Amino acid sequence: PKAAEAAASPVSFVYKPITATEIKVNVSMAEAAEQAAATLADGVGLLRIEHMILGLGKTPRYYINAGKEDEYLDELVGGVRTVAEAFYPKPVWVRTLDAPTDEFRGMEGGENEPHEHNPMLGWRGIRRDLTETDHFRLEMRAFKKLHEMGLSNVGIMLPLVQHVSEFQRAKALMVEEGLDLEKIDVGIMVETPGAALTIDDFIEDGIDFVSFGTNDLTQYTLAVDRNNQNVAYLYTELHPAVLTLIEYVVERCNRAGVTTSICGQAGSYPEMAKRLVEIGITSISANIDAVATVRETVARAEQIIMLRAAREE
Ligand code: PEP
Ligand code: MG
Repeated sequence: PKAAEAAASPVSFVYKPITATEIKVNVSMAEAAEQAAATLADGVGLLRIEHMILGLGKTPRYYINAGKEDEYLDELVGGVRTVAEAFYPKPVWVRTLDAPTDEFRGMEGGENEPHEHNPMLGWRGIRRDLTETDHFRLEMRAFKKLHEMGLSNVGIMLPLVQHVSEFQRAKALMVEEGLDLEKIDVGIMVETPGAALTIDDFIEDGIDFVSFGTNDLTQYTLAVDRNNQNVAYLYTELHPAVLTLIEYVVERCNRAGVTTSICGQAGSYPEMAKRLVEIGITSISANIDAVATVRETVARAEQIIMLRAAREE
């Protein structure tokens, strides 16, 4: 019976060239955890929680106003736990809520979301975290619970920061909620020129990692709304200004020993991936279906670098 069982089981084999640059994966739904882990990625470079919340059908504010914080907390812990367990002990960087005010509009409670002329430049990411602190504290309670469960691979990633004071205020709230910052990795997304150009301040203040959110970094550097078809022809992550910001941050971080990564779409573009390897990024995080090709691109880029170095010796 054992032989029959073995014959019936599909052979699973993932061709995986070894790379010095880590290849990670972006995840948006707990249901995708197994599939994401099967890519043999070196961790999750971005776990978005917005889709998990959309799946609940009610806004976080709805839960809080209805006094159902614990119900919301359980959902949050459950979703992240599934992904963190699938990857343990590889790191899973969970991004705190980054929902522009128009994202949850259709949900129960969505009618109470404020109306803004330009949600992309508005109340989202760390800005919202630091004003809706009751929600941010709930997220921190979730992280604390996950660590208490032994999921020490869960890290916290703060979106849309543009000044080190935001990082400091977020950390103060984490400490107030009882998180041990010696044991939990806390990093920032670099997706504003403000954060990129002042990266030294963040390094000095103790960030554990940075991840480039190039989808946003591009729109804010080039003043091109990423959702506006009229100006889509101007939108490119390969604009020299975007590349210069990335190179500057990687150089400063490498000097200080701070881990760097990219979780924006551009990490999956061969030209960008090659360039990031050349400038010495620590890891590239790609969508599930792009992991294998990014790994190939990176392996080839590293080979070329090594061959060149060997021939120059
Ligand atoms: C980004 O901005 O590149 C990013 C990964 O975040 P999002 O696309 O969710 O804004
Ligand atoms: Mg972003």
